[in-house]
Amino acid sequence: MNVAGNAVKFTEKGSIDIIVRSDTKNIYVDIKDTGIGISEEELPHIFDEFRQVDGSAAREFEGTGLGLAIAYKTMKLLYGAIRVKSELGKGSVFTITIPLKWPGIIEEAFEDKKSIPKPTKQKNKTIFKTRLPKVLVVEDNPDNMVTIKAILKDKYEIIEAYDGKDGLKQAKEQSPDIILLDKTLPKMDGIEVVKIMKKDDETKNIPVIALTASAMKEDKELFLKAGCDDFITKPIDQKILFNKLNEWLGT
Ligand code: MN
Repeated sequence: MNVAGNAVKFTEKGSIDIIVRSDTKNIYVDIKDTGIGISEEELPHIFDEFRQVDGSAAREFEGTGLGLAIAYKTMKLLYGAIRVKSELGKGSVFTITIPLKWPGIIEEAFEDKKSIPKPTKQKNKTIFKTRLPKVLVVEDNPDNMVTIKAILKDKYEIIEAYDGKDGLKQAKEQSPDIILLDKTLPKMDGIEVVKIMKKDDETKNIPVIALTASAMKEDKELFLKAGCDDFITKPIDQKILFNKLNEWLGT
């Protein structure tokens, strides 16, 4: 947002194109403007704090000089990268790289500082292909499983597990975005599954929504103690399920 805001601020006349692309590893957002541009001397410093391009043209524009520094830090936090290519008087292209899978590919995102991926020909068109959010459903009752799958199948990728041990295994292997977890399960019950998951670095950050019968207050307490993040009451209501997932996944 900051970067796009800058592009607007420093472009009096002309156009700004925002193009979103992706490959198997990253999402790229190219923000291309025909603004004042940035000189070669200034280019290495634009992500420094309290620094704005020191040209007369820049004086007409106000700003703290913090925007790009913040954008840069934000991208680092997201294991992404931000690059810029610019020509004085002609404009700039900022490219934001966000890994689809993180952490792990930071180096790659930062590695190629000079080359800017070529914007696609379809200008102003958003090309945004990415994977569906992954939901691991751990539920031994086939009817409940069918219901959940029917509700979620178009918007989510569903991984099924019919017992606690398999649920735990899938949570580690598949890195789901969220887990729906029944309590009474063969091999290992839901409470035990959450306890183990929340102690394991690989799985502790995955939100777990317990599926509980409304009458079972003690179940909720046990789940909470075990580290469970939220609840959905059975029988499952389609709207509530969607709302909960949206809340947790920001979808
Ligand atoms: Mn059950």
